[in-house]
Amino acid sequence: MILATGNRHKLAEMEELLPGVELEPLPEAFGMPPEDGDSFEANALIKARAARAATGTVVLADDSGIEAADLGGAPGIYSARYAGVDVGDEVNLAKLLSEVDAAGGERRAAYVCALVLIDESGSEQVFEARCEGRLLDERRGSGGFGYDPAFVPDDTGPDDERTMAELSPAEKNAISHRGRAARMLAAHLGLGGEAP
Ligand code: IMP
Repeated sequence: MILATGNRHKLAEMEELLPGVELEPLPEAFGMPPEDGDSFEANALIKARAARAATGTVVLADDSGIEAADLGGAPGIYSARYAGVDVGDEVNLAKLLSEVDAAGGERRAAYVCALVLIDESGSEQVFEARCEGRLLDERRGSGGFGYDPAFVPDDTGPDDERTMAELSPAEKNAISHRGRAARMLAAHLGLGGEAP
């Protein structure tokens, strides 16, 4: 199965989430079309359809991001390029935290992941999941990627202040938006996935 992403963190996370499924990245030369959909699902479909057209095989694509409630859901589908194209995770996170600080709200946020599978027959399936939490005004931890150093997930419980970047990969996968969506996909594929 081809995973339509240029993000090596996502490939590594997906490989752990779908044991027994051999995932291959897209060929280096593949030019991804612009992600100009208006939802995570629409953007995942754009990536999956382009990868399918180029490879003719079974493809999986994901689109994900973080929604800050105090910012009306921003950055949302713009999470990867919130502070500009190719500025990097740290600059995007700095922008998000400064805007959330300025908003002076409750700092609630959620990660969202839409996964699209196009199977042998060309049929499209969408699996979408969320991971609720809150944003700190500091960064902690070196695991994960993106906004993880400032995001404390609800699912670890009220007494656990660790950020997503302080969790082990297995702990992150057990509660993350991508983990949940991947388990829905695994169940669909009959891989013995548990409930999301
Ligand atoms: P995509 O590659 O267009 O799906 O962009 C996803 C962006 O959302 C990433 O570049 C990160 O900024 C953010 N993001 C998605 N999932 C995660 C996660 O698990 N941890 C931290 N940031 C994430």
